[in-house]
Amino acid sequence: MSDKLTRFKLHRLPTPRPGQVLGLVGSNGIGKSTALKILSGKLKPNLGRYDNPPDWQDVIKYFRGSELQNRIPKAIRGPDKTVRTLIEGQATMENMEEVLDVLELNHIMDRDVNLLSGGELQRFAIGTVCVQQADVNSYMFDEPSSYLDVKQRLSAAKIIRSLLRPDDYVICVEHDLSVLDYLSDFICVLYGKPAVYGVVTLPASVREGINIFLDGNIPTENLRFREESLTFRIAESADEFMADRSRAFEYPTMEKTLGNFHLKIETGDFTDSEIIVMMGENGTGKTTFCKLLAGASPPDNGQKVPGMKVSMKPQKITPKFEGTVRQLFFKKIKTAFLLPQFQTDVVKPLKLEEFIDQEVKTLSGGELQRVAIVLALGVPADIYLIDEPSAYLDSEQRIIAARVIKRFIMHSKKTAFIVEHDFIMATYLADRVIVFDGEPGINARANAPESLLTGCNKFLKNLDVTFRRDPSNYRPRINKLNSQLDQEQKLGGNYVS
Ligand code: ADP
Ligand code: MG
Repeated sequence: MSDKLTRFKLHRLPTPRPGQVLGLVGSNGIGKSTALKILSGKLKPNLGRYDNPPDWQDVIKYFRGSELQNRIPKAIRGPDKTVRTLIEGQATMENMEEVLDVLELNHIMDRDVNLLSGGELQRFAIGTVCVQQADVNSYMFDEPSSYLDVKQRLSAAKIIRSLLRPDDYVICVEHDLSVLDYLSDFICVLYGKPAVYGVVTLPASVREGINIFLDGNIPTENLRFREESLTFRIAESADEFMADRSRAFEYPTMEKTLGNFHLKIETGDFTDSEIIVMMGENGTGKTTFCKLLAGASPPDNGQKVPGMKVSMKPQKITPKFEGTVRQLFFKKIKTAFLLPQFQTDVVKPLKLEEFIDQEVKTLSGGELQRVAIVLALGVPADIYLIDEPSAYLDSEQRIIAARVIKRFIMHSKKTAFIVEHDFIMATYLADRVIVFDGEPGINARANAPESLLTGCNKFLKNLDVTFRRDPSNYRPRINKLNSQLDQEQKLGGNYVS
């Protein structure tokens, strides 16, 4: 058999069920997109190449013809296209008003789609899928939570679930495990070797599926596909590092006006060996606060930010460097890059060797994100500002990145401020949190840093959502609205248990 012919091999197809949402979880590059394409009839599976001639024929008849129009269009761009004309043009169901409402699209109806922010474009794309009567009652969503804040992620999940009628099929690839958990009725895990092969597990319940993924082990097949388990032990976040936290710092009350937007920042303190996570809706000034702390933009009244050295991973990553990743590291962070400790703690776990000699400009979003994290951590500084590290990363990479950042900050006894919407990542990372509230884009406030517990309570109360912890790996799980636990926790004011 010629190697040239082998290409990518996908074993078994996920089997959707009528009236249920099938969630897919796993690493990038091992077949989620391929599976979606096959299921949508865009790609013919190569029968001979399947070890396990699957249930795909049953599946394909449901999905034939559903085409990509039912997946999120990555970008619908054209001249003079407003949100209104495009959505109204697609609407074949009677739910448009609700969809526009839930996805917060009403205020941007007359805007040209070319001008939308990442989050607005994503909500628009989900909206165009949701207002359509699908040909063969199948809807597919590829990473619907990208670019969205927690509130918008939950709204997107709700509207996607609202599509479900008894003979509809909904498939969703999602890397935010809380959202996947909330959205799905059952789950298939994908594992394998990127670009070589992928295996789809048999369907499991939501809890079981996510736990299989985190565990790296399929108990029914007695098969381990990852050496280590991914857990959220409380111990790992608190005392494992025996942080002594001997130094204390402060930033003053600050205000910042940008056009129509006003941000008030309550004075706050922080220590060494501490991670403070910023939680809040899009447009409440998290990035603005980072820029103030970094000294990249001055506060309104000339207040003084602490004169400490700051290294920042920006939210928007725009690769301008001409050359390979290795050349970039040698130029920007040579000292750190040559340290064995930095290699072991940061570079190796983030798996940069896979593309280190590739041109920076050819990298994918997830590769660029990992390069940006390494660059930020490689600069000697007192404060590390890391703006949305999980964007473009798959679930597995998110957990690895969170662990890398946590160990780095604790071992180097520095401080990090991290903006993060993935709730599982945020709670894993955070020693304390800053909650941003107010009216997005208009008038917002950054509260003083507070404990993870009180901060999460404040944040989740605003969202009217409660979380419990999974007993086997302690990952936070969203309670179903108005479930008994949800009601009990709300009564007791315990939005996280
Ligand atoms: P977040 O990071 O929490 O999503 P940002 O700090 O990026 O929020 O932005 C807060 C608000 O300030 C947004 O409504 C944004 O559109 C607005 N904004 C940011 N920069 C400018 C600017 N240079 N001029 C006018 N408005 C701005
Ligand atoms: Mg931001």
